[in-house]
Amino acid sequence: MIVVSACLIGIPCRYNGGHCRSSALVQHLRQTPFLALCPEVLGGLPIPRPPAEIVGGNGFDVLAGRARLINHQEQDVTDQFLQGAQRGLDLVRSLATSVCYLKSRSPSCGWSQPGDTNGVIGVWAALLVQAGYQVIPAEADGR
Ligand code: SF4
Repeated sequence: MIVVSACLIGIPCRYNGGHCRSSALVQHLRQTPFLALCPEVLGGLPIPRPPAEIVGGNGFDVLAGRARLINHQEQDVTDQFLQGAQRGLDLVRSLATSVCYLKSRSPSCGWSQPGDTNGVIGVWAALLVQAGYQVIPAEADGR
């Protein structure tokens, strides 16, 4: 069983109502059972929604209470991001899985290798890595 960011398989759950379909990932999943999740929707945020950014650090800093999620309407949506990340982790824990393909550069799903100063580490990705899961960043077609 593999866990994937829902937008990567074409589900229109992004902040702008769009998706980030990866044809290569969709092809890979044809032979593999998978569960597609969107932690921001799990946290109760609507589609569409104002985009949000981590202010004051990365996903690990949000988990530690040192950074916040602020959307483009200046609203603090940290609680929704944390709640969605926790619900996503709870669902992953209920599966026999260890690998999660998550959308790059997202404040929830983003994951980058140590030393990548331009990368984004999102809240859900940080929580999954902290819990011992392998997170593999994936990108949409054409990126
Ligand atoms: S990147 Fe993650 S949080 Fe953003 S739309 Fe895709 S699944 Fe949802």
